[in-house]
Amino acid sequence: MEIASNTIIIATQNKGKLKEFQLAFSPLGKQVLSMADFPHIPDIEEDGETFAENALKKAKTMAEALSLPVLADDSGLCVERLGGAPGVYSARYAGDHGNDQANNAKLLAELAKLPQMDRGAGLPLEAGAPILSQAQFVCVLALFDPASGQALEIRGTADGYIINEARGTNGFGYDPLFYLPEFGRTMAELSPEEKQSISHRGDAIRQLRQQLR
Ligand code: IMP
Repeated sequence: MEIASNTIIIATQNKGKLKEFQLAFSPLGKQVLSMADFPHIPDIEEDGETFAENALKKAKTMAEALSLPVLADDSGLCVERLGGAPGVYSARYAGDHGNDQANNAKLLAELAKLPQMDRGAGLPLEAGAPILSQAQFVCVLALFDPASGQALEIRGTADGYIINEARGTNGFGYDPLFYLPEFGRTMAELSPEEKQSISHRGDAIRQLRQQLR
């Protein structure tokens, strides 16, 4: 396969992530390819204990297989009242990899086991649904260049709250449960451009672009 010089290869199978990378890079004249464009590369097991380990493993494995620089994204949701879970296990929290509906149901079930949160200072009152916990989305990007053996690693975050009702149909994963007081909406109720402007992935992509400039 001929790879044009304006191409960015992302080591992901996740269509939601891919759309967000396309939204960020297409306006810069870049063509974004993913693992779906290289079916001969086998699935990469995400067995690291941190987002960074997994991101680097995905980038390095695919970059070495293609002899080209590759970018990878390992990301997830860290819920304060669950001690940071599901964290690196976000994609397979309920068992099956990437079953968003089951993962969201499991998240609500785990939080339902805890006592209700105090409506103390710092909680947004206008969420329109009970707030179950503070939470943070994390995205670690790793860029690996097989020619130099060098890796670049970047971490982006987005802070919000988990509410006990799914709202919105945009985005993917835990977006419908992740409430952003500054918008008065969940991440899944934001347009793709709005999500990009405040998301963990948008944050990491902006830092990456700055470092590569
Ligand atoms: P990964 O493939 O191990 O990086 O899995 C990422 C998982 O984290 C996804 O399957 C989602 O469950 C969750 N996740 C990551 N980024 C987002 C996001 O932007 N919105 C909602 N969920 C996300």
